[in-house]
Amino acid sequence: MTQTPKNIAIIGSGLVGSLLAIYLRKLGHHITVYDRRRDIRNVEFSGRSINLAMSNRGWKALREVGIEDHIKELGIPMDKRAIHLVGQPEYYQKYGKEKEAIWSISRGVLNRKMIDLAEAEGAVFRFEEKVWDVDLVEAKIYTGATEKGRWEEYAYDIVFGCDGAFSRVRHKMQRRSRFDYSQDFIDVGYKELTIPANEDGTHKLDKYSFHIWPRGKFMFIAMPNLDGSFTCTLFLPFEGDISFEKLRTKEEVKKFFNSYFPSVSQAIEDLSSDFLKNPTSALVTMKCYPWTYMDKVALVGDSAHAVVPFYGQGMNAGFEDIYALNKIIGQYGDDWLSIFKEYQTERKPNADAIAELSYRNFMEMSSMTADPRFILQKKIEKR
Ligand code: FAD
Repeated sequence: MTQTPKNIAIIGSGLVGSLLAIYLRKLGHHITVYDRRRDIRNVEFSGRSINLAMSNRGWKALREVGIEDHIKELGIPMDKRAIHLVGQPEYYQKYGKEKEAIWSISRGVLNRKMIDLAEAEGAVFRFEEKVWDVDLVEAKIYTGATEKGRWEEYAYDIVFGCDGAFSRVRHKMQRRSRFDYSQDFIDVGYKELTIPANEDGTHKLDKYSFHIWPRGKFMFIAMPNLDGSFTCTLFLPFEGDISFEKLRTKEEVKKFFNSYFPSVSQAIEDLSSDFLKNPTSALVTMKCYPWTYMDKVALVGDSAHAVVPFYGQGMNAGFEDIYALNKIIGQYGDDWLSIFKEYQTERKPNADAIAELSYRNFMEMSSMTADPRFILQKKIEKR
């Protein structure tokens, strides 16, 4: 079913906003994407370059608009977990019998490429324009340099909020009656570190594995990059006997890694300085409903459902939102009211399920991957 071209604003040029721009351009709509940040293509990445695992859910959404192959060039397939226990050789758990894999991709590199692809489709990007307010009834947005300064007003037919877990668009919807909203921070935080490449550019660990050092209430993970390095994340409670609050000096950091992650200690030369320099970040689950307002405004991606990262499905679920939305558009044509109703009804239970699985998977990754009984149980289940 074809659609009448609409003037559409997408707030947020992250992974979800840029993929949505590609989909909507292919349907013939006029797309302007606003982002408060500088153009990520001109920004040097800091120590916080998260790596993402792209799974089938995400690939399906990219395939639908013909960009899967472009993106695969940026990633490395990981067909197994590599488990690192103290004092034991590392061992592997395959994800499937047919070499099924999840792919390691740098979030920043992926975002740059997605913006390039959206621009090539004809989407217009306006960076360093923060949206401060949205008129839900009229689909108008207000941008400006500061909250108290002068704002510009822009009128659209439809506004999509792809502005992440702390969405300004959602913030406006929250002020309406009967809008459900919850936000839960977990006690575990995270810190990014990098295992550099060997001098000859090769990887220090197996390149095709998702590496986990499970330690019960905390864990360390590493995902491969194309340049031979690994982007690593330490997940650790903020407070308690073994926690971020106990790691304040170089000596404390050194002792901690030597005790629990000796192989990591050896692989990162400036470990203590990197650890103290890089920020510690919090993890949140955010749920809300409804996700749409009439036929004017809709939330997509983290703005509608932010999840903790242990199931590696936040971006994948956001991409699946777009895939589902596109299918629904195919059924309802110009009836945006029905499109938005169907979209939120279909996606909300799925997003809630991903949130729950994400939360529970911390236990699987941090403890159960190390437990031989669990490994045996998994084998029995697979039969
Ligand atoms: P965001 O990436 O947050 O993008 C929002 C954009 O909106 C930003 O560019 C921001 O600048 C812009 N913006 C915000 N407010 C405004 C405003 N007022 N005006 C204009 N612009 C605005 N997901 C996976 O699928 N697999 C993984 O392995 C995985 N690992 C993760 C590991 C960690 C440690 C974390 C924290 C997350 C992980 N995720 C993973 C989740 C994934 O990063 C997010 O789900 C995904 O980035 C969400 O994309 P988004 O475009 O919805 O939001």
